[in-house]
Amino acid sequence: MKAAIITIGDELLIGQTVDTNSAWMGAELSKSGFDIFRITSIHDRKSDIKYALDEAGKEADVVLITGGLGPTSDDITKQTLAEYFSTRLVMNFEVLGMIEEMMSRRKFGMNDNNRRQAEVPESCRVLTNGAGTAPGMWFEKDGTIFVSMPGVPNEMKYLMNEHVLPELNKRFTSQIIIHRNIMTYGTFEARLAEILTDFEAALPTNIKLAYLPSSGVIKLRLTATGNEQESLEALVNEQVKSLYKTIPEFIYGENEESLEMVIGKLLSKKKRSLSTAESCTGGEIAHLLTSVPGSSNYYRGSVIAYDNSIKSSILRVKEETLSKYGAVSEEVVKEMAEAARTIFKTDFAVATSGIAGPGGGTEAKPVGTLWMAVATENGTIAEKRVFGNDRISNIKRFSLAALNLLRLQIIRN
Ligand code: AMP
Ligand code: MG
Repeated sequence: MKAAIITIGDELLIGQTVDTNSAWMGAELSKSGFDIFRITSIHDRKSDIKYALDEAGKEADVVLITGGLGPTSDDITKQTLAEYFSTRLVMNFEVLGMIEEMMSRRKFGMNDNNRRQAEVPESCRVLTNGAGTAPGMWFEKDGTIFVSMPGVPNEMKYLMNEHVLPELNKRFTSQIIIHRNIMTYGTFEARLAEILTDFEAALPTNIKLAYLPSSGVIKLRLTATGNEQESLEALVNEQVKSLYKTIPEFIYGENEESLEMVIGKLLSKKKRSLSTAESCTGGEIAHLLTSVPGSSNYYRGSVIAYDNSIKSSILRVKEETLSKYGAVSEEVVKEMAEAARTIFKTDFAVATSGIAGPGGGTEAKPVGTLWMAVATENGTIAEKRVFGNDRISNIKRFSLAALNLLRLQIIRN
């Protein structure tokens, strides 16, 4: 069961519109057991559309197409499909009636462009569009199904959910595909792949492993294909268990869990509280923590001590410590964490001080240097990391590093 996706629209090729349709359709087709072997984005151009249809049709059982169905002259998909399937455009009165009703409900008058939207290639099956005016069109040629849908994401989703997916699920006794995501933090992709060499070599042939890195978090995705749900799940569980045995120090959660979500669960379970004192991360850690629903149960607040004067006046970091070691230092970040823990009366406090860049680096403390500390009832620990040169990605990476240090301290204390 092979599927291809073609998205049509000049705007997709010049970076004006991000092709979210492909990602959504890919996920849905994959859930239905299809192997999506190609995604193509092309211009609103007849020759390109026909070429893409030819190429996809050679291998695919199903080709999903979006875009180019608008009422204006730049949208030419329908005309091209009529030519490609050697048919002509005819008025579909059911669609015309629906468009007339929709336009009158919105108190708009009908014009020729609206009427043209009710014209469809004679040989296709029309899929009514309850979310807009352009209908979907279902063609079959030489054993391949081609479905054309509007580019507007919510109209495409309507057609997929109401017509396309139910029909495909009926027609194709589907293969089962299971995805499992294991979330890791604490190493980099190349190193993780090295550690997992033997694990990968021993994977059954119907299970594939993918590495999906983002700001230091690496998601390991296991994808298993088979015919029987229960045995396939058991097989995946076995591999997940083996992963936990191989890299216990890096795994922090599963599926789409974030570090802040895991921290929230740990604190709730232990009935412990948390505060933050942030310099270089400027509130990013507080933002991540408070993005988790229910965070008010354990998170108290933050001091964004960006300037040294705030570190000394509000957090009571000693002038002497600041002048002797500098703001980006083990000593200062520890005092910051301990002060937050005292001021906010929390069980844990996490603090950061670093150089996000692009300026401000020295030889001893280059751009990307981070000191982070976690204060607990059993003492305070601090660690240093050095990341890259990009300010925004540093702020994100600093925050995740501090959250991971915090997570480990919550587990240990
Ligand atoms: P169309 O059917 O070509 O008239 O597309 C209508 C609108 O849908 C475009 O202006 C885009 O904003 C949006 N759109 C088209 N294709 C995509 C796509 N692949 N992903 C997300 N949005 C899209
Ligand atoms: Mg278009």
